[in-house]
Amino acid sequence: MPEPSFVLDGMLGSLTRWLRMMGYDALYLRDLPDADMLRSLEGNERFLLTRDKQLAERAGERGLFISSIVLDEQLALVANEFGLRYLGPWRCTECNGELSPVDKGSVKGEVQECTWRWNDEFWRCARCQKLYWKGAHWDSIKKRMDLVSTAHGNSPR
Ligand SMILES: [Zn+2]
Repeated sequence: MPEPSFVLDGMLGSLTRWLRMMGYDALYLRDLPDADMLRSLEGNERFLLTRDKQLAERAGERGLFISSIVLDEQLALVANEFGLRYLGPWRCTECNGELSPVDKGSVKGEVQECTWRWNDEFWRCARCQKLYWKGAHWDSIKKRMDLVSTAHGNSPR
């Protein structure tokens, strides 16, 4: 079974970034009328995550109402429904593009010297070219992702 992919509404920016960090394909659509949000589900297998209960209902099987404004609770809701785990390497948190590993030598000068020296792995977004590495915050990010995935199991929908 393929991993689920998502469309999120404008109220769910943080959740979008976290799903991308876990490696999920997550489109973030801001300021779109409901009809366009629903249209974004056509011709694909995406699920709609929304803070709008009516919109979630209109999306039927493909909709999930996110009832909380607290990020941890939002992650728990999605994990309960779909089973989340760290897929890695993550998606670009800015544009949802796919990341590809790049040679360490090729990014010298593009990042601070200490960053370059302390990291051996770098990735670049294929779409917006943003460069990624597992910086100082990675351990705490990883810990939170592990919590999300272990607390709610990995059973697919
Ligand atoms: Zn990008």
